[in-house]
Amino acid sequence: MRPTNPLHEQPLGEAEARAFTRGGDGALDSALEETIVGEKPVFSGLIFDVDRISVALPSGAPAERDVVRHPGAVAVLAVTEDAEIYLVRQYRVALDRVTVEIPAGKLDPGEDPLCAARRELAEETGLEAASMARILTIATSVGFSDELIHLYLATGLTRGVAHPDEDEFLNVDVVPVADFVDAVLDGQVEDAKTVVGALALDAISRRLAPSGLADAALDEVIVEEAGEDEA
Ligand SMILES: [Mg+2]
Repeated sequence: MRPTNPLHEQPLGEAEARAFTRGGDGALDSALEETIVGEKPVFSGLIFDVDRISVALPSGAPAERDVVRHPGAVAVLAVTEDAEIYLVRQYRVALDRVTVEIPAGKLDPGEDPLCAARRELAEETGLEAASMARILTIATSVGFSDELIHLYLATGLTRGVAHPDEDEFLNVDVVPVADFVDAVLDGQVEDAKTVVGALALDAISRRLAPSGLADAALDEVIVEEAGEDEA
């Protein structure tokens, strides 16, 4: 039999219908928390470190967790007035192939994500954006990493010259947003931030245009989103 939440008669893990509650905001969530009792570095790398964390489970039993410590990153949905999006193609050694991604990069220590988004966009594509709106943040793999990627929508684009890092080789594509979303739904794009970005862009557009991804609607959402962020 499952243990019962001490704050409530509900057994832990039982489903209960209710309005959405953000993680950590639920009255019963404290019964789920693990207590950190120790932490030691086990790996220090070029991009991330790994810590081994000793915890006490809600039952009091001990457990160990390996956690990848990452500085965080930004990614940019750069959308033109003609509803086209900028994509970068680059070789990724982890998968041993070229992937299609939205422009992105790691945060420098202490760097503001908005500044990083503008910097990465300019470095990888040469683009400058009149408006940058933060649309959402993703935790890329909550089971073992603290990496957060902040996604921005960049509009009002003007193009200069790209200046990627010395160890960064990439090609830049410009494709219709509708084709991009189709490619994601067709399984042709596997990069997580890029998949999320495509689906978010599509969802935002559809909320304004239930009949589909209309150029006019996309323009509207861009203006609204950008306006909110600037405020
Ligand atoms: Mg990059």
